[in-house]
Amino acid sequence: MRFNIALLKGDGIGPEIVDSALQVLDRVAALYGHEFIYNSLSAGGCAIDRTGVPLPEETVAGCLASDSVLLGAVGGPKWDNLPGQLRPEAGLLGIRKALGLYANIRPVKLFPALKERSPLRNSPDFDIVIVRELTGGIYFGDRGRICGEKGVEAYDTERYSVTEIERIGRVAFETARGRSKRVISVDKANVLESSRLWREVMHELAAEYKDIAYGDMLVDNAAMQLIKNPAQFDVMVTSNMFGDILSDEASQLTGSIGMLPSSSVGNGKRGLYEPIHGSAPDIAGTGTANPVATILSAAMMLRHSLDLAKESDVIENAVSAALDAGYLTRDIGGTLGTREMTDRIISYLV
Ligand code: NAD
Repeated sequence: MRFNIALLKGDGIGPEIVDSALQVLDRVAALYGHEFIYNSLSAGGCAIDRTGVPLPEETVAGCLASDSVLLGAVGGPKWDNLPGQLRPEAGLLGIRKALGLYANIRPVKLFPALKERSPLRNSPDFDIVIVRELTGGIYFGDRGRICGEKGVEAYDTERYSVTEIERIGRVAFETARGRSKRVISVDKANVLESSRLWREVMHELAAEYKDIAYGDMLVDNAAMQLIKNPAQFDVMVTSNMFGDILSDEASQLTGSIGMLPSSSVGNGKRGLYEPIHGSAPDIAGTGTANPVATILSAAMMLRHSLDLAKESDVIENAVSAALDAGYLTRDIGGTLGTREMTDRIISYLV
């Protein structure tokens, strides 16, 4: 089959790790008789350098014309002093919004080969999916600076509608149905009105999804419980900012930020797939970046956007096999560079 994939390689290590994922995809295409047609578009710092804005219109149009989008990472010190709406991250927020991708899904799984590198090496195994609301909340609310009684003041606003909460809640409950049927919703309902509405809507959904065991947890407790006993969680659903923070915390439980993929999805099949880490400017160009998170993001893309579940399994199994055989990049205690690690993974594709 033929698929159109938009590529946003981005900045820093972005182009290096996306190229690794493309080599894997090309091998899968050859093995299983598919054709992946790539359309390279710019977003983030590289787009600012080329066009003056982090998300050119042609990029949005190209993504909308594709079956799916694969992203590396955006940002870096070169663009750190630009005003908010012109920063590389604005490109990322903008493309998620433009594509209607309101749910960010991050599997947090410990590969057996990396258990020794986890700070929780002696705990029971865990396999969590964090479902983060992506296009609402404080990252998109009204913000500004005013001259108040005490001088300059700044504010950001957390705001959620029933519709926004309900649709992310449904993603979580549906995800749980395909797993061990447990959902924990994380909020700060003891303080925030937006969280109280969040909780009310989640309770209504829980009454509808009677086959799912449901619980609430305050975000401060959730941050602690993730370290204390991550195996208690299956699907966690939370707001944009809480999800941002908790998913980075959870990622470290697996040994390295270089290992974890993510998908951002909306109502249709098209999604945006990217590693959870950033552009790692400190190692860009050294050929040492771990390509696994991006390769696994490509695997998620095959499963969820292109309906190629078998091919997705083949990639995930190849990554596992390479790790089990002791092939590791530096961030996970090995010596391999990006290219060597990619070659090893490709050698296990069957
Ligand atoms: P980062 O994730 O880029 O790097 C944090 C640390 O992890 C660094 O030491 C880095 O070398 C290491 N690391 C990250 N990915 C790795 C990989 N694949 N292999 C090996 N080591 C890896 O976070 P940061 O340093 O806080 O941010 C750097 C830039 O990335 C900033 O401009 C930030 O805004 C941007 N950023 C972008 C995204 C995104 O595009 N989705 C996400 C987070 C940060």
